[in-house]
Amino acid sequence: MFPPMSPPSSPWHTDLPCLASRRAKPVSGRRRRCTEAAAYPPHVLRAVLFDVDFTLFRPGPELGPEGYRRVGERHGLVLDPDRYPDARTAAIEKLQGERRLVHDDEIWIAFTEHIVRGMGGDADGARECATDMVREWERHENFALYDDALPVLEELRRHDLKIGLVTNGQRDVEEFVAHHGLTVDAKVGSRTHGKIKPDPSIFVAALQQLEAAPEEAAMVGDSYEDDIEGARALGMRAILLDRDGLRPHEPDRIDTLLALPAALGLIPGV
Ligand SMILES: [Mg+2]
Repeated sequence: MFPPMSPPSSPWHTDLPCLASRRAKPVSGRRRRCTEAAAYPPHVLRAVLFDVDFTLFRPGPELGPEGYRRVGERHGLVLDPDRYPDARTAAIEKLQGERRLVHDDEIWIAFTEHIVRGMGGDADGARECATDMVREWERHENFALYDDALPVLEELRRHDLKIGLVTNGQRDVEEFVAHHGLTVDAKVGSRTHGKIKPDPSIFVAALQQLEAAPEEAAMVGDSYEDDIEGARALGMRAILLDRDGLRPHEPDRIDTLLALPAALGLIPGV
């Protein structure tokens, strides 16, 4: 599929520092591994876990500021889309300290209600509006794969890597995967699992489905607190997908999924 030397037209980003290239000895087979960098345990990579929201899938407009405005209208609320960013930040700060790592439907509704009120909907109907917004996050058609998602999943498959999904939220992951026609080897959602990222048990559940040890897997996600810190606490390698360049100094980061194969040390065309 790929020539030995990646041409300029190759979609795969190869300009990232590839720690795997510093391997101490030749590695046979279709993969190579890194034996020097501390972040790369000396095990062959067998599986890659992905977060869902803002990693593989882009939440659609129904879940953003305009979506809030429209749902607010149904409840007699005038919500200002321009106030959404600050309202969301305030909601996160408000609930961060109270967060337990247990999946709780009420937490999602309370979080969303904070946003509704922060956007000007501080009135009767805010709770019902928030409940409707949370339902929108359960609708699979409100999500679309990023353009870089399927190509990278295909490339990982070509390297015989197993693929898993680990997601916090309300959705039925089985239905979600079926709706979008994805083929994955493991899928764990917090609603059925009972704990949320970064609780280690949710990563362990996915690894068990994949029959992989933590050091044989990598986690890819956009949330530093949930995806990266959670996976690293378990001994997994974790790569931050920083699409908006918010953490430029994070050493193990990519800004597009197209950079993932190189970051994992996979050799194009091998
Ligand atoms: Mg995410």
